[in-house]
Amino acid sequence: MGFEYDKVEVPSDGTPIQVVDEDADELDVPENPIVPIIHGDGIGKDVGPAAQKVLEAAANATGREISWMRVYAGESGREKYDENLPDDTVNAIDEHRVAIKGPLTTPVGAGFRSLNVALRQTLDFYSNVRPTYYLDGVPSPMKSPEEMDMVTFRENTEDVYAGIEWEEGTEEVEQVREFVEDEMGFDDVMHDGPIGIGIKPITEFGSKRLVRKAIDYAIEHDRDKVTLVGKGNIMKFTEGQFTEWGMEVAEEEYPDEEVFAAPDSLWETQDEIDIPEDAVMVESRLADAMLQWMQLRTDEFSVLAMPNLNGDYLSDAAGAQIGGLGIAPGANFGDARVLAEPVHGSAPKRAGQNMANPTAMTLSGRLMFDYMGWKDAADLVRDAVEETISSGKVTYDLERQLDDAEKLGTDEYADAIVDNIEELA
Ligand code: NAP
Repeated sequence: MGFEYDKVEVPSDGTPIQVVDEDADELDVPENPIVPIIHGDGIGKDVGPAAQKVLEAAANATGREISWMRVYAGESGREKYDENLPDDTVNAIDEHRVAIKGPLTTPVGAGFRSLNVALRQTLDFYSNVRPTYYLDGVPSPMKSPEEMDMVTFRENTEDVYAGIEWEEGTEEVEQVREFVEDEMGFDDVMHDGPIGIGIKPITEFGSKRLVRKAIDYAIEHDRDKVTLVGKGNIMKFTEGQFTEWGMEVAEEEYPDEEVFAAPDSLWETQDEIDIPEDAVMVESRLADAMLQWMQLRTDEFSVLAMPNLNGDYLSDAAGAQIGGLGIAPGANFGDARVLAEPVHGSAPKRAGQNMANPTAMTLSGRLMFDYMGWKDAADLVRDAVEETISSGKVTYDLERQLDDAEKLGTDEYADAIVDNIEELA
């Protein structure tokens, strides 16, 4: 099978990854896959090549070879194609199934959608996944940061990402006000005077497929709990519905011995309910309480599944507990497709100075390896990163928070990780 693009070459020495079963998320990954990579804007130009070097070393150390296919978006897309998001890039990521990207700057000005959101929506990467775990040696504001080991699944296509808003003072907002007051009968909630109105959709389809992904991940990775997080006591028919649909997935789509759907009353009656020993427990929590529990009872949570906005807040808060943006990895999962990307943006003021921390992008690659079934390479990346940081070799962002650390540039830090990969392999 050969793919053709306008301005990028498909590496001739690699083999494309094939889909075996899209619904079952099953890929056939060769030992020499072609993997599209976008280095990214701003610090992407520093961390992109550095992460690539580390990932390549881990692949080689475990007997594999990646054929990287450089593709372009953002600034590099404008330079090469005069477009922010060229078709070549979208098609390459679509067709090769597994890809990684650095951060992209959202151009300021009317009419620009975030390129990241555009990519996620165009290719239906419907879950944004962020594993949040502590690496030994990373400075953290928490007393016991090592208790954090969570994976958040944030719905990526609806809720506020598909929300519609009407600006105060426009004809449209007045039409909506009239409709809500006169046609729907809510005439006591809209005060006179300027008003902004927004609506957000949450669907059964979107909620269920996200929760299914989270439960499947928990089963596959031997995790014992999936917590559905919504603000259903206030937003009953959107967030409340999300958790209800999620519980339906748990109740109806898995055998009892594999998944146990916890009733709301569980916390009062725990002793009387027979929970199958190895089952993944699916429970629901209110979003505000969850933000507290995450800090106070960190080790009680494992996999979290949430609508878009809750996921935004909760995954950032979780990331802060283990050391912040330079460290936090992520990936977007679709059906038999993954696009790994760090949580951080393009940090323009640190760009091009060989300063930025490539850990987040490197660990995003680890998540990509995990998705490809390369667990040994994924573990090697994590171990080598941890070994490097705990030996006091870090980039500026961590060095400024530590007493006796050695400050390395992006490249030198990546080289230190590669040395550790070679030593640990
Ligand atoms: P940001 O790029 O994440 O950077 C904010 C600050 O976080 C940086 O100034 C730096 O702090 C620290 N930081 C982030 N990444 C780091 C790294 N790898 N190593 C060390 N420090 C790091 O957020 P922003 O400034 O709000 O956004 C800039 C642009 O990125 C915007 O155009 C935004 O739209 C875009 N963005 C893209 C993505 C994406 O591509 N997925 C995500 C978020 C934002 P110090 O300066 O204090 O060291």
